[in-house]
Amino acid sequence: MKWSLTICTLFGIRIRVHVTFLLLLFLVVAIGMESGWRVAAWCAALLAGTFACVALHELGHSLAAQRLGVRVSAITLLPIGGVAQMRSMPQKPSYEVAITVAGPLTNALIFGVLYLIGDWAPFLVPYYAGLPLHVPMPVSVGDLIGSLLLVNKWMIAFNLVPAYPMDGGRLLRALLAGWLGFPRATVVAARIGRAMAMLFIVAGLFAELYMLPFVGLVIFMAAGMEERAVLMQSVLRGVDVASVMNPACLAVAPEDTASQCLAMLHQAGQDDFPVVADGHVIGLLTREAILEDMRETGGGACASDLMIREFRCAWPEAPAAEVHEEMQSSGQRTVPVLRDGRLAGVLTQENINRYFLVRSFLNGRKGAKSRAYRDSRQR
Ligand SMILES: [Zn+2]
Repeated sequence: MKWSLTICTLFGIRIRVHVTFLLLLFLVVAIGMESGWRVAAWCAALLAGTFACVALHELGHSLAAQRLGVRVSAITLLPIGGVAQMRSMPQKPSYEVAITVAGPLTNALIFGVLYLIGDWAPFLVPYYAGLPLHVPMPVSVGDLIGSLLLVNKWMIAFNLVPAYPMDGGRLLRALLAGWLGFPRATVVAARIGRAMAMLFIVAGLFAELYMLPFVGLVIFMAAGMEERAVLMQSVLRGVDVASVMNPACLAVAPEDTASQCLAMLHQAGQDDFPVVADGHVIGLLTREAILEDMRETGGGACASDLMIREFRCAWPEAPAAEVHEEMQSSGQRTVPVLRDGRLAGVLTQENINRYFLVRSFLNGRKGAKSRAYRDSRQR
């Protein structure tokens, strides 16, 4: 995720914080400072403690995922919660159940540990009924433990709401997947998720709980994005790179200058160009490199000086889903495709999007036709 800073690495997983989260911390401290540094320190401690619980919740998901063979690259903390970036999807519904349950189970574990500390500690740990934002000063470590008990209880309850892609929604999808199959179950779970998100937005506006519409909006968008990602994976399954790639791509020579390549950007509708010398691909010239050189030197630099030398290539027979997954995790938007060491085409994000568009349209028509056929036979 862009605009994130890595704070540490645990079990091979990078723990990152998004810049907006740091802004939230800054904002909370700044508002707290109006009532004195004690209030500011309390707010910062409560926020940091809450997000430590969020990070542990995501770590719970991630460790379960790694045990079941799903790679996790990073956990990112955002103002609305945490996201574990998994590099592939769990293929069995039972795996998804195990990975999903591990998150709230971690919160239950934290709750248990904090409860025991509160029980044994020589100081009082209060039990709060609501969020302790207006606690009489000075506050103690006991107040912080008491508040985090409440935070973990709320996290368990909130995460189990069946609003996909939250944990409850993922459990619902796993249940449906045994019956409808993974792609169809995702569509149904995402629709229920979006309906729940709308409910959050409306309820939050009526009850004047302004965090709720914001969370609802994020769930609404995330449900759509995850639905598309899962459907794309299912469309690409069993398809090779040759069926999706653009075989009529343009390539450039090492001595071609940026100004010579400029027109190709809009005329060919291609973002990146393989640099070919003696029939072999030696580099990749990106749109950014061409434009930057145009602005700085008027486009006089050669492709060989501007090109990227380290990039991934694919073979026509390679599974498209796997190459797509790697493109997403590495951020490489154009992959040269080689046949016997020579350029056979390029695979781009746009090719994949178009392939997805065409296949989903045709699959939808096929589904509609067979439904119509079934209806006519029932009549
Ligand atoms: Zn979770």
